[in-house]
Amino acid sequence: MSRAMYPMSDMRVVTGIYYIDNPSYDIVRAVDHAIHVWKHAKKDKYKPYAIYSDDFANERQTRLKIIGSVHSAIENGEIEAFMQPKFSMKTMEVVGAEALSRWRNPDGSYKFPGQFIPLLEDVGYIIDVDFCIFEQVLCVMAKWKESGKKMIPVSVNFSRQHINHDDFVTRIKKLTAKYGVEPKYIEIEITESAFMKKPEKMMKFMRELREEGYKIDIDDFGTGYSSLNMLLDVPVDIVKIDKSFIDDYDTQTKREYINQIGNLIHTARKDIIFEGVETYDQIKFLTECGYENAQGYVFSKPIPMKEFEEKYIYI
Ligand code: C2E
Ligand code: CA
Ligand code: CA
Repeated sequence: MSRAMYPMSDMRVVTGIYYIDNPSYDIVRAVDHAIHVWKHAKKDKYKPYAIYSDDFANERQTRLKIIGSVHSAIENGEIEAFMQPKFSMKTMEVVGAEALSRWRNPDGSYKFPGQFIPLLEDVGYIIDVDFCIFEQVLCVMAKWKESGKKMIPVSVNFSRQHINHDDFVTRIKKLTAKYGVEPKYIEIEITESAFMKKPEKMMKFMRELREEGYKIDIDDFGTGYSSLNMLLDVPVDIVKIDKSFIDDYDTQTKREYINQIGNLIHTARKDIIFEGVETYDQIKFLTECGYENAQGYVFSKPIPMKEFEEKYIYI
């Protein structure tokens, strides 16, 4: 009816349903359940309704538990920075690393980012996780510096949520100064899609950070909808080409495409690193195309900080 009256409005009706099996069930709770499942349904563009179920209730419970316990997890040191080395495919030496978060469970197993990062992005608490990981990285880099170890650049992921916090750059600068680490060893990884929303603000942050000497990596390049034009404008030093680019490169067209993309990025004067490299065949192909840097399981999975230091920070 509303669609007929307002054909250009793209209106849609979404409903949340809770079946009352027991007539004495508290009506306020029933409505509350229906509202929660309705909010969930609204996120899916194609879903006209959703029904409250045990699975939904359990999932919601898990979500609330994660959201409710993240701050104590940070305080208790349960959020750990794992490190994945980055390699030169020419020399087979480590040229850097990426810090990736893991949440340690009481039994010593770990929750992976997929289980908590998206939820924390929704509520904004990701900001605290990002800074927690960043501080662990700074702390360990300060130790390397003090003991005269060879410094390698380390990249840290920062969520698009930081765009909503005007003190983002100041916080980064203050923490770096606290640990006495030179900004040139720090890479700020921002996912490509973060440049979609409020791109001006993101660019302003990036410019300010670069002026201070930090490097900026654009993460997951090729997964968003940005055009290659954007590469010329964004204040970015390193482009991380998403895993999906090299997952299949067996057709001639795809091979040429990967080759040309690299030329374009180099023309825009950015460095390139390939992520998710899993096989020696991929290394061979990428080196034949003239690429140098890569990260992926073929070299190493992300590993605990202590193991990373033992394996790679010895000189
Ligand atoms: P990402 O930044 O694109 O990180 C790369 C992901 O690919 C990591 O997954 C890594 O373990 C995985 N990976 C690396 N090499 C390979 C490979 O050869 N094959 C395959 N199949 N996978 C590979 P992880 O650690 O599960 O992280 C997933 C995503 O979670 C990250 O993707 C990043 O977007 C996010 N994330 C992780 N830690 C943080 C953090 O501290 N802050 C923020 N904001 N996001 C984080
Ligand atoms: Ca990343
Ligand atoms: Ca990535």
